[in-house]
Amino acid sequence: MELLHLKSLDLKDKKVFIRCDFNVPMDEFGNISDDRRIRSAVSTINYCLDQDCAVILASHLGRPKGEVVERYSLAPVARRLQQLLKRHVELATDVVGVDAMKKAQELPRHEVLLLENLRYESGETQNDEELSKKLASMAEFYINDAFGVSHRAHSSVEGITKFFDDSHKAAGFLLEREIKFFAKLINEPVRPFAAIVGGSKVSGKLEALVNLLPKVDKIFIGGGMAFTFLKQMGYNIGASLVEDDLLEEAQKIMDEAKKLGVKFYLPVDVIVAEKFASDAVSKIVTAQEIPDNWMGLDIGPATVRLYREGLNDVQTVLWNGPMGVYEMDKFARGSSKIAHFVADSYATTVIGGGDTADLVQRIGLDEEISFISTGGGASLELLEGKILPGVAPLLIKEG
Ligand code: AMP
Repeated sequence: MELLHLKSLDLKDKKVFIRCDFNVPMDEFGNISDDRRIRSAVSTINYCLDQDCAVILASHLGRPKGEVVERYSLAPVARRLQQLLKRHVELATDVVGVDAMKKAQELPRHEVLLLENLRYESGETQNDEELSKKLASMAEFYINDAFGVSHRAHSSVEGITKFFDDSHKAAGFLLEREIKFFAKLINEPVRPFAAIVGGSKVSGKLEALVNLLPKVDKIFIGGGMAFTFLKQMGYNIGASLVEDDLLEEAQKIMDEAKKLGVKFYLPVDVIVAEKFASDAVSKIVTAQEIPDNWMGLDIGPATVRLYREGLNDVQTVLWNGPMGVYEMDKFARGSSKIAHFVADSYATTVIGGGDTADLVQRIGLDEEISFISTGGGASLELLEGKILPGVAPLLIKEG
């Protein structure tokens, strides 16, 4: 699986359109709390500028659902990008409106234009052809460097590729790095290979769990999704998060793990609380003794010790999804302890983006991780063995 390569394009003095993923987390004051995704895009942008290009950048931010919503403006991104690139970044006031079209058309070489939030246009998520066409008309070359959104068939990710032939489109450096890394991880991991899977729901990660089973040696389950498994095992889970329609599926996963000889770990104790709030009364109980009406919001200390023990000999760790409600300090301990252990281990450690990346960044461990992906959903779909819709059109056709 070889990607159309950015360095193979004849970009000299041309206008390029780069789909980036600047969907960064913001705090309540609108400050960017983690700029990893913006920093990760810089090498592709600088390469194009070094080729004397005029560079048009586009991204989505949050879910404004086709409406212009001030708080989802890319203005803070433009400011951060300006600092990182050390040059002016012009922000268009719209996506494909009069302002964006005019600015794109007149953009001189060595200048950078950022379009407004792509999802201000409802056509973006519908893969609308008209929108793709308008975006494509802005430049002579198309580069996709938005790994985090490449599992979506959206106008600026999939539809737009139809307007460029193979000598006018390519994967950016970030996209290429991510795809290559995950291909290697799945095809030739150094064993033992463990997956730590957490987060809120089984449903979101069901396929990934099923597909990971034949590839890994151990799976450690945490977060809200653990309770569907615990319930299926016959435990009382009180008011914890559960997906009753997936109980059977949970059983199948556990059966399959047994059949394949994959060690399947579930929490043995949990931190329970009377309500979903940071000031809730909480206590540690064993998985067998969750009281009625209490909800499990983190893994307990015995589980942390157990998981550390199980992770001790692994050579590759893939982690996707927090062990508890890490956004609340009270329920962040399990995730934090596992993060420290993973970060200190000699294994190759991989974080599958999203919340888990945010978590290690918050506790300052991001430098200690071998690879932090910029795409949670996209990396999971890659691990499921899917060819992503944003990547398929950028593959070199064989023969
Ligand atoms: P996901 O998007 O599926 O990776 O889920 C991440 C979210 O799961 C985070 O916002 C966590 O707060 C949440 N989460 C983790 N553990 C629990 C739990 N035990 N109960 C409810 N939510 C949880």
